[in-house]
Amino acid sequence: MTDHDARIIVIGAGHNGLVCAAYLARAGHEVTVLEAAAEPGGAAVTREFAPGFRVPACAHLLYLLDDGIRKELALDKHGLRMARSGLVSIGLDPDGGHVRIAGASVGGVADADQEAMQAHHRRMRRFAHIIGRLHNRQPPRLGTTDRRDLASLARLALDIRTLGRTEMREFLRIAGINIYDVLQERFENPVLKGALSLDAVLGTFLGPRSNNSVFCALHRLSGGGDYALPAGGMGAVTAALASAAREAGAEIRTGSPVARILVDHDRVSGVELDDGEWLPAAKVVSSADPRATLHGLLGARHLEAGFAHRVGNIRMRGCAAKVHLALDGMPEFTGLDAAGAGERLLIAPSLEYVERAFNHAKYGEHSAAPVAEMTLPSLHDDSLAPAGQHVLSAVVQWAPRNLKQGWADARAAFLDTVIDTMARYAPGIREQILHAELLTPEDIERQFRITGGHWHHGELSLDQFLMMRPVPGAGQYATPVPGLWLCGAGSHPGGGVMGSAGRNAARAIVGSNRE
Ligand SMILES: Cc1cc2nc3c(=O)[nH]c(=O)nc-3n(C[C@H](O)[C@H](O)[C@H](O)COP(=O)(O)OP(=O)(O)OC[C@H]3O[C@@H](n4cnc5c(N)ncnc54)[C@H](O)[C@@H]3O)c2cc1C
Repeated sequence: MTDHDARIIVIGAGHNGLVCAAYLARAGHEVTVLEAAAEPGGAAVTREFAPGFRVPACAHLLYLLDDGIRKELALDKHGLRMARSGLVSIGLDPDGGHVRIAGASVGGVADADQEAMQAHHRRMRRFAHIIGRLHNRQPPRLGTTDRRDLASLARLALDIRTLGRTEMREFLRIAGINIYDVLQERFENPVLKGALSLDAVLGTFLGPRSNNSVFCALHRLSGGGDYALPAGGMGAVTAALASAAREAGAEIRTGSPVARILVDHDRVSGVELDDGEWLPAAKVVSSADPRATLHGLLGARHLEAGFAHRVGNIRMRGCAAKVHLALDGMPEFTGLDAAGAGERLLIAPSLEYVERAFNHAKYGEHSAAPVAEMTLPSLHDDSLAPAGQHVLSAVVQWAPRNLKQGWADARAAFLDTVIDTMARYAPGIREQILHAELLTPEDIERQFRITGGHWHHGELSLDQFLMMRPVPGAGQYATPVPGLWLCGAGSHPGGGVMGSAGRNAARAIVGSNRE
């Protein structure tokens, strides 16, 4: 056995791969991270898309990063700083009747909606807290008598029970249903309802009337609901993580795409890179999505048929696109002052608008009138654009990965539709555009190696959560193949820049007596 046979290889230097590598290295393991791209960061990177203009390429808002990870890895010491936190969400109205949402407070709506918002927010926060408490636990296995699994299930039951009878009933009533019904029950203002519904469907293949959308809203709120812009864009988070991982002793090799995971006598023995180099390892931990890892890099022939079939059935139809605009000045939104333009701006003016935007995706079409979550990060961070100019970063839906007409034919028309949609709220914006970039889920799949270009590496829903994520049989980060582990967003607790999957996986590996 050579020294390197004891090494742990982490595939992918996205934020979860980096977190996992940092914790493994701190536990004394020899760790090598292999990243296909030229820079670490995965879907949380900042990059130049036009000369002098930089944007967060996929993820653009930080709201789920685990506080414990931030402290334990001393990310602030490694350079992480916020350009702005506590962003207000502004539901835009084409006529300027915007709605401002800051936690439980909402402005621009009638008193009854303000009161209803207090109760709604309090309740959603309490329910989201239950989900948040699961983030840093390894999901229990079902059907075992292992003390830890039973204790973990008991803790979950107790968390729900301590809500009290009325709230427990409400939690169980709404957790699996749709946000449309819940918001219709509670509010009047259409812009408020539209904006709140967007939080339940961003990054998913769900509309407000789809079941599971309440669960997605709770997942989004489970980090506390504070939206922040890291100084230097999202890439600053992964730059700090890479620095922490290196300090702990991990080696990070960029420009090193893994072609396949090697198996010897039914257990993992290392990886082969695209250029033919073989790297032996005792364990391989993959932050690539579960299907890319298990079907692509490992190969279904190494898996039992039922398990391989379940992996093939993971729902991962990406439908969030990114649009980046380099602007020759500050865009003017009707009825919004300059400070307002620096907040989190939502195009989702009613529940019906959002549902209609989703309808197209069911039939393989992109939205004719899309929804968007927009930020102008350069208003808070002058490292992102030349003086007096700005960048706009928008998540836009729905833009299904498998567009019926194909993205090659549709991309110009979709970008035009998005800009027309934005111009309904900021009439002069088209004339201010120096450069526009559209990343469809197909682009995201290719550039970031995420199957389907899916935000969460697999749909976030109750049937793909906790011990069912990504599939039963791999819900505790270990796969059925000895020595192969998962640590990315496709594992519990899912996507978003939070780091919990990476840390949970590292803990499971360190604490495991499995090979
Ligand atoms: C359009 C869009 C907008 C989003 N907006 C937000 C947001 O505002 N806030 C938020 O919190 N989240 C957002 N997300 C979600 C978030 O970006 C992801 O959930 C998160 O980045 C996943 O992190 P990860 O480390 O698990 O995986 P990734 O970031 O996907 O990293 C995996 C890494 O593995 C590498 N890799 C894959 N295959 C190989 C291979 N064979 N060899 C070597 N390397 C390989 C990839 O290159 C990549 O670097 C967004 C996602 C999308 C798509």
